[in-house]
Amino acid sequence: MIRTTFSRLAAALLVAAAPAAMAQDKVLNLYSARHYQTDEALYAEFTRQTGIRINRIEAGDEALLERLRNEGRNSPADVLLLVDAARLWKAQIEGLFQPVKSATLEARVPATLRGKDDGQGSEWFGVSVRARVIVYDKAGVDPALVQTYQDLARPELKGKVCTRSGAHPYMLSLIGAMSEHLGAAQAEQWAGGVVANFARKPRGGDTDQIRAVASGECGVALTNTYYLARLMNSTKPQDQEVVARVGMVWPNQKTWGTHVNVSGAGVARNAPNRDHAVRFIEFLVSDAGQRHFVDGNFEWPVVKSVKADKPELAALGQFKADPLPVASIGRAQVGASKIIDRVGWR
Ligand code: FE
Repeated sequence: MIRTTFSRLAAALLVAAAPAAMAQDKVLNLYSARHYQTDEALYAEFTRQTGIRINRIEAGDEALLERLRNEGRNSPADVLLLVDAARLWKAQIEGLFQPVKSATLEARVPATLRGKDDGQGSEWFGVSVRARVIVYDKAGVDPALVQTYQDLARPELKGKVCTRSGAHPYMLSLIGAMSEHLGAAQAEQWAGGVVANFARKPRGGDTDQIRAVASGECGVALTNTYYLARLMNSTKPQDQEVVARVGMVWPNQKTWGTHVNVSGAGVARNAPNRDHAVRFIEFLVSDAGQRHFVDGNFEWPVVKSVKADKPELAALGQFKADPLPVASIGRAQVGASKIIDRVGWR
């Protein structure tokens, strides 16, 4: 009697489980280092269009790489989405991605915004562009003094410069780019000059730097533009006050252009749902996907035909971007890391 009940129960469970198991086939395991709440809408749109459910693991870039290394062949990761060229390059050379054949990605992502390992074919694609700019205290700093990244080392800015830690990927990529342009020795001299100008020990994220400029604690700082645009878009009076006090400069417009970085994605080396993974990255660079990066997080599209027409972005104005391939910026982080250690940019 008891046995019958159990087997009936088991049978009922099997029946109930079957549709669930089928549904589970339409799944994508996404390892993401993007930390922007507005991405929820992006993922929901993908699921709506494709019926593929997204299981998301979110962590910092380095933590995700560590997890992938540890999981090895058994990793459930299908897509690895990172927020910086330095980390993307690291994942590339460690072979954490696999090669992808996709006419869509070939056509829509410019070659300078991708990376591929010559040996193993470990490959990634930029999906959004971010620009790193200088913000200054309108009341205390003449913008003519801060027209280039090199200017941050000027003696006139002693005790005025704030940045987040040099060890953060956003900073490593910028210092790497400086090294590509100036050569390692000059880049190190520059970095030492910036450190000598610090108003305080590096701390906080980009938004914290902007706020510290508005409060007068710092005279100048570095930030990705979307953090500034977010404050511009905020209806909070205290954010509006910050925006009113801070000016922005597109650095290096007369020379090589403003440093740009990417958020990018690749198919994980051992992806169990490879087709879904390719489809997801293709979705990120579709018109709809690109619009999410622009409208949701004030980033720039990688796809030329998509317009960055948000009022906040229009208010920031046009700029000349550094054409340096982001993969070379990634590679330059090894040297950048040594520079920050030697000059104490921590
Ligand atoms: Fe960010």
